[in-house]
Amino acid sequence: MRITLVQGDITEQRADAIVNAANSSLLGGGGVDGAIHRRGGPEILAECRALRASAYDKGLPTGQAVATTAGRLPARWVIHTVGPVYSRSEDRSHLLASCYRASLGVAAELGAHTVAFPAISTGIYGWPLDDGARIALKTVRETPAPGIEEVSFVLFDATAYAEFDRAL
Ligand code: ADP
Repeated sequence: MRITLVQGDITEQRADAIVNAANSSLLGGGGVDGAIHRRGGPEILAECRALRASAYDKGLPTGQAVATTAGRLPARWVIHTVGPVYSRSEDRSHLLASCYRASLGVAAELGAHTVAFPAISTGIYGWPLDDGARIALKTVRETPAPGIEEVSFVLFDATAYAEFDRAL
């Protein structure tokens, strides 16, 4: 599996699947989540509502992942995952690692060959970029994902790109 770094906007990626740093409501939010729903159109939100009504009436638990189609985005699927909120007093790295693992698992089940990730939890959820980058890269590298040829990390700004580049 090839790992690449890109500086840019995840909603513009042509990967088979892009990953959304969602919140457990699955009903939209800020950051990546807001951008995906804004640019992807109402279909994605409609599918998220259906998921809430069926499998996830209490919301998607932290560290898990679920897919919808991608509406008007160039990708085929959006994989929604809920990162942990950073805590200084409690080590939640296993939950952050779980987001990457679970998303790759869903991507492999869908038959995706290319997957694009944002830097989960490093925005509104406050995870330090250096540690978030290390966990992201280590987890993706160590997770077997049949059929997935390329994983790209799409970093929004130069600082995030530099941290991922250093960690890689
Ligand atoms: P979280 O709530 O998991 O912290 P955010 O969406 O707030 O999620 O931020 C996650 C990371 O994604 C941050 O590093 C943020 O700068 C970045 N980001 C925000 N918008 C985009 C976008 N459109 N494409 C790629 N990365 C983005």
